[in-house]
Amino acid sequence: MTEDLTKKAAEMLLKGATLLSEPCPYCKGVRVMKEGYALCIGCGRQPEKKEIPKQNQLEETSPTIEKTLEKKMKMLTKELELEEDHEKQQNILKTINSLLETMEKIKKKQ
Ligand SMILES: [Zn+2]
Repeated sequence: MTEDLTKKAAEMLLKGATLLSEPCPYCKGVRVMKEGYALCIGCGRQPEKKEIPKQNQLEETSPTIEKTLEKKMKMLTKELELEEDHEKQQNILKTINSLLETMEKIKKKQ
């Protein structure tokens, strides 16, 4: 995972992108998706544009660790948007980075 990809992912999230529940077909990494454009944070590949059915929304009965991480991610992204101090921005980016790593570990266990 590179710093650039993390930043790009954070930018996409700021613009309303969502985290894909379907892992990257190449490296099983976490992907962010906006308007049919998916970017893998692990390897940076952008698979062909396609609509992902929102099947996950049917099973939102209890909060899962992934949902919680996703919420945290949104909060951090917002924080990053509002933060003007460069050092603090770096800290937030680091936290986002470790969140993403945690997400990837969870996905690999499945
Ligand atoms: Zn990938």
